[in-house]
Amino acid sequence: MAIFIPEDKISEIKNTVDIVEIVSETVLLKKTGRNFVGLCPFHSEKTPSFTVSPEKQIFYCFGCGTGGNAISFLMKQEGISFPEAAKRLAKRYGIDIPTKTISAEQRKQISQKESLLHLNRQALNFFRQALVETVAGKRALSYLKGRGFSDEIMDRFHLGYAPRGWDNLLRFLSKKHISTALAETAGLVIARKDKSGYYDRFRDRIIFPILDVNMNIVGFGGRVLDDSEPKYLNSPETPVYHKSRTLFGLCSARDKCRVENSVYIVEGYLDLLALHQHGIENSVATLGTALTAEHIRLLTRYTRRMVLVYDSDEAGIRSAQRCIDTFWKEHVDFQREDVFREEKADTHILVLPDGDDPDSYLLKYGPEAFVATAAQAPGIISFLIDRAIEKHGLSTEGKIQIVSDLHATLAAINDSVARSLYVKQLSERLDIDEAVVLEKIRVAALRKPQAISDRRSPSSSASAMSASESLMTSGQKSLSEVGSRIEQQIIAMMLQFPQILPQIESRDVLEHFESNILKSIGHTLLHHKFKSAAQVSELLNFIEEPEKKRLVAALALTDESWDENGCRKLINQFVETIQRRQKSKLMDDKIKAAELKNDKQLLYKLLKEKQKIAIQSAKQKITLLSNK
Ligand SMILES: [Zn+2]
Repeated sequence: MAIFIPEDKISEIKNTVDIVEIVSETVLLKKTGRNFVGLCPFHSEKTPSFTVSPEKQIFYCFGCGTGGNAISFLMKQEGISFPEAAKRLAKRYGIDIPTKTISAEQRKQISQKESLLHLNRQALNFFRQALVETVAGKRALSYLKGRGFSDEIMDRFHLGYAPRGWDNLLRFLSKKHISTALAETAGLVIARKDKSGYYDRFRDRIIFPILDVNMNIVGFGGRVLDDSEPKYLNSPETPVYHKSRTLFGLCSARDKCRVENSVYIVEGYLDLLALHQHGIENSVATLGTALTAEHIRLLTRYTRRMVLVYDSDEAGIRSAQRCIDTFWKEHVDFQREDVFREEKADTHILVLPDGDDPDSYLLKYGPEAFVATAAQAPGIISFLIDRAIEKHGLSTEGKIQIVSDLHATLAAINDSVARSLYVKQLSERLDIDEAVVLEKIRVAALRKPQAISDRRSPSSSASAMSASESLMTSGQKSLSEVGSRIEQQIIAMMLQFPQILPQIESRDVLEHFESNILKSIGHTLLHHKFKSAAQVSELLNFIEEPEKKRLVAALALTDESWDENGCRKLINQFVETIQRRQKSKLMDDKIKAAELKNDKQLLYKLLKEKQKIAIQSAKQKITLLSNK
């Protein structure tokens, strides 16, 4: 059931909560000056760069760039949604939350979702009954028994059977007065092309109901009993079923995942059932979709060690590659948190020998052998290195081929520590100079400049950098890359000395910003009539994009002291820079035109003028510097 929290309650929560208290529950904090620091819970580090400001009620990690207020801290720490986090804080601080104030549109959505879940429950009753109580179901039942599944496992997973024929479920639902339109939305029936009616999606198939973590039935999977195609059929995406966010078996596996501190991720329903049948209950299945970032995020609530199980090298390599691509994409669109960071999700690839799937492997060797083999499963990159060595061998040509196969993969890892460790690993395995690998990566990085944040460290000197050094630089870089230094300073000033906001507005300062993200932060500040530095935490709730949140937290925490005079100077400096830039652009245009017309006399005049401007601006810069 979704939670809706009225805006005034959110402010009440924010005003009551103490971020130092909340963070202290999981992070050991030490007071330094106005702030507290500690070891970041979101990345692994040896020297504390995680900073909490009691004044501003925000946190920011200078190592990994995570930042926000108490609510965002709890969201990230616990892997929960905004309303869940707000609700938890409210409970802790004794704030009552009325749950009735929801809009008509929200009520409609909720009631549609609830109707769909109700319908799915009815459908499951039908499928269960068909498996257990009908003659037609006997075939399915004996198929499952033949695969070695006990009654207990079939009950645990609520297996069912969709009988042969076009309208068995359809007729059952109409007897229950459930609308066909709703059944179509649920993906259980399909409209006939000639619009003459509907037919059942699942026919003569074993039915696997798909449950979410709250035990709601959100969708169904169906498997044929013979060799006909398609072997598996799933519910389509519906308002309650999202493939990229759903893992089959998670609700039965989650407690065991916590206890065992690991999870096995298999591809199919029967693989999963086989693992459970053999007592390996910390396992889930992705259903015909590749493992997504959301899957990983969901699982990190329970454990960080994830073992992806495959029956062939090719499938393993594809999956490892995909994990890295996902990681890459995540970085590029800034939309999501970097869940694939090695310290967040510790992902391993297990390829079972001789083309065995989990079922056949467990039958041959038993669960202990499975667990022991899985404990040895290499991490994603080690796996790819192993496979490349197997494929190309360690001759000179082989080594060249291996580096050329893997350099793009390594370049895609945006955690500089992890990357340098892998580079080291690869060069050791191949017995070649690390610098050679780094050079290759550098070239790959240059080819995709915007995709890799960390352009400087994979130089040949990077390998000499200690882990903490490169972490620090990678954290600072995430800040220094956004907009020019002066644009950042202006936003920091707006956050820390809001008295200056009217001047920023009247002089149109933001219009000249080159960085769109900083410009939009500036506009948010003007728009929300940001009045005091203590409002930063509140402001963070208006901002949805994680990248923006992080920047605001980071810039609000820079330690500078502002006064009216210093602020005006900074604005003047910025405006002058802009004017200079505009002048020089105008001049360049004129020069280009003169070149085109081949007007030598004009060209000479313009070049001289340009030189004069350049000298002037150099002088200006020197005066600005000496004024500091
Ligand atoms: Zn961090």
